[in-house]
Amino acid sequence: MGRSVQEDAIHQLERAAAEHIAWLKSIHLALLAPGQPRQLPPSAPTLLSQWVAAAETAPERGDRQALVDELDQSCRRMHAQAARLFAPECAPGPVDPARYLAFMGSVEDYGLHLRNAECTLRQALAETDPLTGVANRQGMMRDLHREWTRALRTGDPVCVAIADLDHFKDVNDTFGHLAGDHILHLAARFFRRRLRPYDLIYRFGGEEFLFCLPNTDPGNARRVLDRLRIMMSRLPVRLDDGRQVVVTASIGISPMDAGIPPERALELADEALYRAKRTGRNRVCVAQESRPQAEPAPAEDRPAVH
Ligand code: GH3
Ligand code: MG
Ligand code: MG
Repeated sequence: MGRSVQEDAIHQLERAAAEHIAWLKSIHLALLAPGQPRQLPPSAPTLLSQWVAAAETAPERGDRQALVDELDQSCRRMHAQAARLFAPECAPGPVDPARYLAFMGSVEDYGLHLRNAECTLRQALAETDPLTGVANRQGMMRDLHREWTRALRTGDPVCVAIADLDHFKDVNDTFGHLAGDHILHLAARFFRRRLRPYDLIYRFGGEEFLFCLPNTDPGNARRVLDRLRIMMSRLPVRLDDGRQVVVTASIGISPMDAGIPPERALELADEALYRAKRTGRNRVCVAQESRPQAEPAPAEDRPAVH
């Protein structure tokens, strides 16, 4: 597996930090023996454009761009202060202490921004599943509690759902583990691209994904996820050797509300998933402890929902 965009971005930041130190040394050498400052190295933020472009959703891209913009502005301020230090009127004389202090202040500020960007990237890397590119369980409970408390505050509904790919052991046994990995990657992308930008998706286990759907009651969650389930079952995956694999998923849903905190919602969603498996797979079930739901009429591609 190649390096992820986060790993690339961290590598680029580390390189930018090393170039920054070399540049700083050259500035000090030039100040000790006044002469022409060396060419200023390019600013690091432009190196992160790939990381920004790789964001799956517009809000995520916005957050990344804001971080890059801050870093970029801090770098520009530092370069402006360096230019003042080397202004022609200061050239042969002693270093102006006020300008030197202003420059070093901007250097410290840039260093802080670099470290902040690196922390953000390392956290993003630690919270990303390398195979599927979606979040892993690292920050999942924190996020679920955040969404739950937000829903309690606003009075909006919120649901969690667990999707488990059906008979995935057979998929591996028939097509090989590498094909299984590829299918998992495609399944994550399938869900990520079809859910709303503010829905959350995690790799919950081997072939299981967890969704958190803000502003969605169980009835709507069922409709949305049933549509995705049907779509997935009709979009066979074509492998490199031309063979096609039909992948289906079983899904269990639970609301989170004042009486159902995230931990309980996960148990309920898991019970609903178990019911979906037991009653034939390739179907969506809603937790029974939730408020009574009007059962949708049986339809083509919809094995009776329980
Ligand atoms: P069910 O419909 O009951 O969910 O059947 P299943 O075969 O999907 O469930 P089971 O729990 O028996 O097996 C899960 C399979 O998922 C077995 C395991 O090898 C596979 N799996 C889990 N993680 C990965 C992975 O990262 N890559 C691949 N290729 N397979 C994985
Ligand atoms: Mg499973
Ligand atoms: Mg499974």
